[in-house]
Amino acid sequence: MANCHVVFFPFMAYGHTIPMADMAVLLASRGLKTTIITTPTNAPRFSRSIQKTINYDHQMELHIIQFKDAELGLPAGSENPDQPVSDELLSTFFEAISMLQEPVEQFIRESHPNCIVADMFYPWSTEIAAKFNIPRIVFNGTGFFPQCVANAVGLIDHAKNVQSDSELFIVPHLPHEIKLTRKQLPHFESEAFKGFLKVLIEAMEAEVKSYGVIFNSFYELEPEYVHHYREVMNRKGWHIGPVSLCNRNTEDKSERGKKSSIDEHECLKWMESKAPDSVVYVSFGTIVKVTRSQVYEIAMGLEACNEYFIWVIKNEQEQWLPEGFQERTAANGKGLVIKGWAPQVLILDHESVGGFVTHCGWNSVLEGVTGGVAMVAWPVMAEQFYNAKLVTDVLKIGVSIGDVEWSATASCDGVERVAIEKAVARVMGGEEGDEMRRRAQVLKEKATAAVKEGGSSYSDLNAFIQDIKTFKSDS
Ligand code: UDP
Repeated sequence: MANCHVVFFPFMAYGHTIPMADMAVLLASRGLKTTIITTPTNAPRFSRSIQKTINYDHQMELHIIQFKDAELGLPAGSENPDQPVSDELLSTFFEAISMLQEPVEQFIRESHPNCIVADMFYPWSTEIAAKFNIPRIVFNGTGFFPQCVANAVGLIDHAKNVQSDSELFIVPHLPHEIKLTRKQLPHFESEAFKGFLKVLIEAMEAEVKSYGVIFNSFYELEPEYVHHYREVMNRKGWHIGPVSLCNRNTEDKSERGKKSSIDEHECLKWMESKAPDSVVYVSFGTIVKVTRSQVYEIAMGLEACNEYFIWVIKNEQEQWLPEGFQERTAANGKGLVIKGWAPQVLILDHESVGGFVTHCGWNSVLEGVTGGVAMVAWPVMAEQFYNAKLVTDVLKIGVSIGDVEWSATASCDGVERVAIEKAVARVMGGEEGDEMRRRAQVLKEKATAAVKEGGSSYSDLNAFIQDIKTFKSDS
């Protein structure tokens, strides 16, 4: 049944390429033909997924289009946001993104797919799909809950509702009482974000005009918000995750997205030497920039709380660690510092890991849930403050790091070591932490059941496939 062809076009950030690659693998495993469109620098990110499908005789291909970096004066290879361009060049980066429209349209014209699943950052793909009478499905990298909160926040004039940026207000019309402050909301005042803001507005408009949105989520995680999205917001959305669960063996888990900087067997050996639920994993994902002073405070906080930890830092952050920190924590077996890329899913799935200090990127939250761990929610940017509320206030599987402010520049800063020590102690020890972990374990079981035959995500993926196979354009 390899006649139905779905084209995936991910935005080039890891938080988008990783789940979309898993989605393409998932659809290929159901007998559909899948193609991922990407640019030359980003192509290697998909090689593991392509290899996997070849091994299973499934149909998945890459289609490479050129990125006009040189033409627009961008540094060569700046094809993704984790090789950041300067603030001044951010608008140029998005201009280069908009120039991908033509080669994408050409590919759709030539290959006649049944459907295009395109990232939110390509709003113009809705027009391309309309031109060729195929459905455009949006992927925005988040879940139903953050989408519902963002929609509700957009409906209120929060400038009128509160006296100050730090006063809590209730987000109206939601199934739970969700409280936020103005300083936790996205805001892009700076001139440098003009181009980005324009794309965000176009993305929201295009989402409403598109056929539907595909979510890396599962019904049992956020049932009220699946209903809210479908019935109250009146949008079409399918939940087909957690897609990370399609990576079953050690290699698939440790090479997801990128080859780990640490040998996976060395990492496993370290974790195996620890008791169940005794290790806290600390990671801020791929975009967040942890400042020099914050790196220092995290180190001091981790050492003070005396728990076992695995901490992922960027290579350049090593020199910001306190004197002798790595040597001390390695020698007493307390800490494993991974410089570069960690095998996150492998770590979170390990029984020794019981806690996760996270920036609350959607993938990390979901991977934490499928790992059955309790979380310290430390949001920084994008929709992460909404995701944090899901973790702490709705699912009650984590605690908040405290009073932090949304950052347009993705800068993580200003939390003192005592707050870190206290938050880690709450999730790792005592009845409170155990209770959160018990709830997380229940969700883990539900997540595993959701992707099995007959489960909620398995069935919704069937519904999705059926929908695109029988799609008839209104025009
Ligand atoms: N990731 C990983 N190793 C790392 C850093 C990140 O495997 O060292 C993966 C992580 O498992 C997740 C993705 O990268 O799937 C990050 O996505 P998320 O939405 O959590 O955060 P973002 O980086 O987009 O802010």
